[in-house]
Amino acid sequence: MIQPDADLAQLLVYANRILYDQGVVDGLGHISVRHPTQEGVYMLSCNRAPAMVKQEDIVCYDLDGKAVSDTTERPYLERFIHGEIYRARPDVVSVVHSHSPSVIPFAAVKKPLLPIYHMAGFLGEGSSHFEIRDDGGNTDMLISSNALGKSLAKSLGNCTCVLMRGHGSTVVGTSIQQAVFRAIYAEMNAKLQLSAMGIGDVSYLNKEEAALSSAMNDGQIGRSWNLWVQRVGKID
Ligand code: MN
Repeated sequence: MIQPDADLAQLLVYANRILYDQGVVDGLGHISVRHPTQEGVYMLSCNRAPAMVKQEDIVCYDLDGKAVSDTTERPYLERFIHGEIYRARPDVVSVVHSHSPSVIPFAAVKKPLLPIYHMAGFLGEGSSHFEIRDDGGNTDMLISSNALGKSLAKSLGNCTCVLMRGHGSTVVGTSIQQAVFRAIYAEMNAKLQLSAMGIGDVSYLNKEEAALSSAMNDGQIGRSWNLWVQRVGKID
């Protein structure tokens, strides 16, 4: 049996509450983090609404989505998103999956999110697109197996964000804080991009501006994170 890392479990609880407070997740959606010392293991809540997640809900899973810490709780149906992305992307430390509403239209018309402002510099050359019918045929749209998780990870490629047609999106980061930041600003960018597209031709950040902004933001995330933590208040 593998124990969740206590410090990261606490950060993960905050991340769950913050994603709810910021309107990225509702009753559904989840965030995971790689286990800091156990190779091939990640930490994720059991099947719980993000705003209700507590430290004792955090479970360790292997990359196939099998629980490797002591638990009798049901797992999330879509935990395969996390394991298969960690398998495909050694650089990724944290993964957020959500159905945040403003990205849904972009996934439906297969248009990428592009960085409309500096806060979304991480979008770089744009989000990638996932079509579940390509490998899965007609489904309930959920990533409910390792095979579908693999196919999603392939579509993510080297991007930071993949839009999932008819479903939602998944973003990745090198820390819990960065993944939360990206999930919040992917949603915000989608809103602003849609609004700009309605009034004219949009000038997005070019690749260099996006890379410079992204690096700058990474040095500032702590400030936003502290604010978000304060908003969700004391965690019991
Ligand atoms: Mn989902």
